Amino acid sequence: MTAELISGKEVAQAKRQDLKQQAAALKEKGIVPGLVVLLVGENPASLSYVKGKVKACEEVGIYSELKRYPETITEEALLKEIEHYNKADHIDGILVQLPLPDHISEHKVIDTISPEKDVDGFHPINVGRMVTGQDAFLSCTPYGIVEMIKYKNIPISGKHVVIVGRSNIVGKPASLLFLRENATVSIAHSRTTNLSEITRQADILVVAAGRENLVSGDDIKEGAVVIDVGMNRSAKGKLVGDVHFESAKEKASYITPIPGGVGPMTITMLLANTLQSAKKRSL
Ligand code: NDP
Repeated sequence: MTAELISGKEVAQAKRQDLKQQAAALKEKGIVPGLVVLLVGENPASLSYVKGKVKACEEVGIYSELKRYPETITEEALLKEIEHYNKADHIDGILVQLPLPDHISEHKVIDTISPEKDVDGFHPINVGRMVTGQDAFLSCTPYGIVEMIKYKNIPISGKHVVIVGRSNIVGKPASLLFLRENATVSIAHSRTTNLSEITRQADILVVAAGRENLVSGDDIKEGAVVIDVGMNRSAKGKLVGDVHFESAKEKASYITPIPGGVGPMTITMLLANTLQSAKKRSL
């Protein structure tokens, strides 16, 4: 079997077209959705991510501000900035790009963002709302993964979904979203002893470990759907995932490429969350 590609780029484009129309409809009511992105320091990868987010906002008609702060900014000063944007009427979404320098607590930063503007879906209130099935901003990467699977009309209900990784931003929220879609979910992590045995049981395998070539064709059931979240730099400087693409595509029924897989969906769901927030202004 040679897998069909799930192009995140293609799904993202279709979704962004729809978001553009929603933003235009809001504009007619006098509402311009607004996102502020706060970046601390000079990390080139983070800078490239935030620029991508700002550009995507422009594309769909969301107003955006990129606020940059020196690496030396104090935690207190950064929290004050967030509080300022919590109160700003023209801003519907606040995103603080992670990682942060060691002297700033990620937890404090996330807790300070108003849950009503937490478009990354990281605030404990949004996580709690998601877990209990209430209206919440969903964490963008897992949200994007589920959306791209649905776009391809791949059934999730009743399927065994195996997620490799249990981070707060990908693995854990992904497990809960798939549970909400009525999948049977297993979560593997670095202490899992029989990883291959578990991944081979997956109807849908989501790999988010940040380890190049962690999973290859031998670790995949024939016909499985493979979602590669990993973004790693190979020794040659190439962007690669966690899945050995060439061997995996011979076993899988569907597979996401790197680049052009999960990445574009993550940004698209950030836009969707910002619009969802802006719509509340019109209520
Ligand atoms: P983290 O480093 O926070 O978490 C990695 C997870 O993988 C941990 O739970 C860890 O286990 C587990 N893990 C690590 N090594 C192994 C192993 N050998 N076997 C099984 N599990 C293992 O990473 P993130 O969740 O933030 O990101 C994961 C990857 O996804 C990264 O490459 C990141 O760049 C990428 N990413 C891509 C996004 C996109 O939009 N495409 C968005 C976000 C992330 P343990 O908990 O035991 O340590």
